Parts: sequence; structure tokens; C-alpha cells
Amino acid sequence: MNHASYGAFADELFPSVTDCTVPPLMPSTRPIVIAHRGASGYLPEHTLEAKAYAHAVGSDFLEQDVVLTRDGVPIVLHDIHLDTVSDVARKFPGRHREDGRFYAIDFTWDEVQQLRASERFQPATGKAVYPGRFPVNQSRFSIPSLQEELEFIAGLNFSTGRTAGIYTELKQPRFHREAGQDISKIVLDTISKTGWDRNPSQVFIQCFEPIETRRLKSELGCRMPVIQLLGEDKWIELVKAGRVTDLEKELEQVREYADGVGPALGHLILSREPDGFVRTSPLVEAAHKHQLRVHPWTIRADDLPKQVTSLDELHDVLFTQLGVDGAFSDFPDLTVHFIHDLKRG
Ligand code: CA
Repeated sequence: MNHASYGAFADELFPSVTDCTVPPLMPSTRPIVIAHRGASGYLPEHTLEAKAYAHAVGSDFLEQDVVLTRDGVPIVLHDIHLDTVSDVARKFPGRHREDGRFYAIDFTWDEVQQLRASERFQPATGKAVYPGRFPVNQSRFSIPSLQEELEFIAGLNFSTGRTAGIYTELKQPRFHREAGQDISKIVLDTISKTGWDRNPSQVFIQCFEPIETRRLKSELGCRMPVIQLLGEDKWIELVKAGRVTDLEKELEQVREYADGVGPALGHLILSREPDGFVRTSPLVEAAHKHQLRVHPWTIRADDLPKQVTSLDELHDVLFTQLGVDGAFSDFPDLTVHFIHDLKRG
């Protein structure tokens, strides 16, 4: 579908939107399941197939990480490199930089379309990062552009009658700015062009770099909810030291420009005591005090944090003990099941 015809299609897909404000945090609402890079526990991350599977198992939101090509096309890719999830090294030998890596920003969209996507592997050995998942370099997958992905999810929402939202991450804005590209502006334009900005409750924008996250609403007029991912070392220091007052001060500043935070599991789960009690941090409570949603990452059935003994226990700590508002899961079907049982229980 070309850009000109998309406007009419978007009218049909997003017909009934009148409220364009960010919905308030409702502590009693059911937590949301965000399919991390799609249903990446079962299919190669960020392929359209992984998004279709995630949609089919009832995920509330489908995540897309975004980087830019040399010609400024936003593509759905977790890293700024292509070599851990595609055959770029075989197809374009010699196109790596001095560090041996193949950067997406050194390739045109036309070239990216010639690549085959794969389950994630170690470039040095070709071995799978998660050996129990979809086999490396098997079958045929591709790397989608952001526009293709957003059209795809809108199409699935239309054909199934079930709405999944989008949860878009701006990857490394500073790196892109240094390469002369404004990734935030390009991503927001694509979201707008595909009609997704018409209902802010179906969209989250996430980013690790506070300078950029702050810019979204103040400078770029973003009306969709913004999630500050917590990547800086200070957060782990604050939760480990139990400095609740300082933690709250930091979160108060985040509240000036964001609607929620995305902590790592390590920011929430601190230790397992000898009696089996899982000790957690005050971050969720402090964030809720400041009306910030909390969406931690990442639930992986095949790579659990060492403080828990099962996926059920991890789900229980996050959703029952801590009361997070949603979470990123590589296995969204399992997380959806847990939350549905929670609702019934
Ligand atoms: Ca991400």
C-alpha cells in the first residue's frame, strides 16, 4: 500500500477516536502484556511472523525497536548492528566498520530488504543465543520497515477485531543524531502517517536516553504516553541502597515528562532469602506514588532471574507481590495465561 492511499485506510482502521489525551494511571486495571520483540521466544525477534504470533496469543501491546538506515528509513531492529540477526556478513562482506560490526546506518533500505533475518546468534560462532528457540538461519524471514510493521498490526487488528497496541522504542537517539539523523522525529512522523497517533491509548513510546524522552512532549509535540526506560547506573544504586527519598526525587523529575518507567527485573527483584522469600525493591511503590506506570523487562521462561525458581514465581512476584502495571515478555502466551488466571482468582 502506498502512502497516498493509507490515509483512507487509516480512517477505516481508526474510526472512533475522539479522546486524544493520555489516559490516567488506573491502579485497578488489569496489567498489560507487552510482547517483547514480538513472541520472540518462539519466532525470530522483530519479524512480522513473531508479531502475528504475539497478536494471536492475546498480547495487549507489540513492541518494536527502531533504528534508521543510511537513507533515513526507520526499520524494526533491536541493535544498531545487523550482524546478530541477519545474513549481512555473508551478503555484504567487507561492509563492516573497524570494530567488525555491520551498522544498519551504513546500509540503504534497498540493501536491508535483500537480507534474510534469523533467530539471534553469536556472530563469532554462529551459535544461537537461546538454543531452545527457533533454529538459526532456518526458513525465510525479513527485517520490516516501521511503516510495514505498523500497517501489519493495524491490518491484524482490523481482520481479527481484536486490538493490540504498539510499544515503540527509539534506539540510541544520540548515535543517530551524530550520524545526522533525527530518529524521534522520523518515528513520530511514521506513527502519524499510519494513523496510530489517532488513539494515544493504543501507543507507548519508550527510550533509554532521558534527554530525548524529555524532548518528545516539550519539543516534538508527542501526545502519546512516554515511558522512560531505566538504564542509568544511578537507578540500581538507589534501589540497592534502599534510598527511598532520593528515589522518589528522581521519579518526580521523570514525571515532568513521562507517563511511566521501564525498569529491568534487577531494579525490582533484589535477593532470595534462605527461607525462599524474594526481597523486592521500593521502586514500584515509589513510582505509583508519582502516578508513573511501571512496565519491567524482560520475562524469559528460558532465562529466569536467579532469585526465582520458576516462571510462575516470577509472574507472581511481579504481578501479585509488586503490582506492576504490565511487563515485557518473550513468551507473551504464558504471561497472558497467568494474568487471565489472576483476574479469575
Ligand atoms: Ca526494546
